[in-house]
Amino acid sequence: MSLPRGFKAHAEREAVRLRKEMGLQSSAPVDVAQLAEHLQMKVVGADKLVDIERLHELERIQAFAFSAATFEIAGRLFIVLNPVRSPGRLASDVAHEVAHRLLDHQLSEVREIEGIPFRTCKPDEEEQATAFGGTLLLPRPLLTAAAYQGWGPDEIAKRYNVTTEMARYRYNSTGVARQVKAKTG
Ligand SMILES: [Zn+2]
Repeated sequence: MSLPRGFKAHAEREAVRLRKEMGLQSSAPVDVAQLAEHLQMKVVGADKLVDIERLHELERIQAFAFSAATFEIAGRLFIVLNPVRSPGRLASDVAHEVAHRLLDHQLSEVREIEGIPFRTCKPDEEEQATAFGGTLLLPRPLLTAAAYQGWGPDEIAKRYNVTTEMARYRYNSTGVARQVKAKTG
């Protein structure tokens, strides 16, 4: 599966545009909960809705079955998160949900927290939301600035509170290391 033509460039532009709207530099990290709020989405932990034990139980039955989902309630959008995740993973999950909204994806995924674990039925939209969300978290200007500092994916993950997987994915797929090396080396 591959992303539509021009998708990555669009995501980079949006990451910078939203930072600007929020009064942030293009190379600045963004608090995803604030970003969600900026887009009139409210982030809530699923433990506010169901007992935390149920969430742990669900996790034991099928790991990563439930990460996050967007619900529309009385005209308001809520991102419901699974609080059993690490902070880095939660950031990815919120960014993913925000991305669905920015990409105008329909709320068509099965939305069930208690009971049956669910999977979404549109893999292409899932791939897009993950790629777009990663760009929101770690846009190219941020990665370039980090690479100039000599920071690799591990350092980026630690400093910006994202998962190492996400830092590595963005760091490698944008080619910032090569770019910085070419300029300074
Ligand atoms: Zn999704």
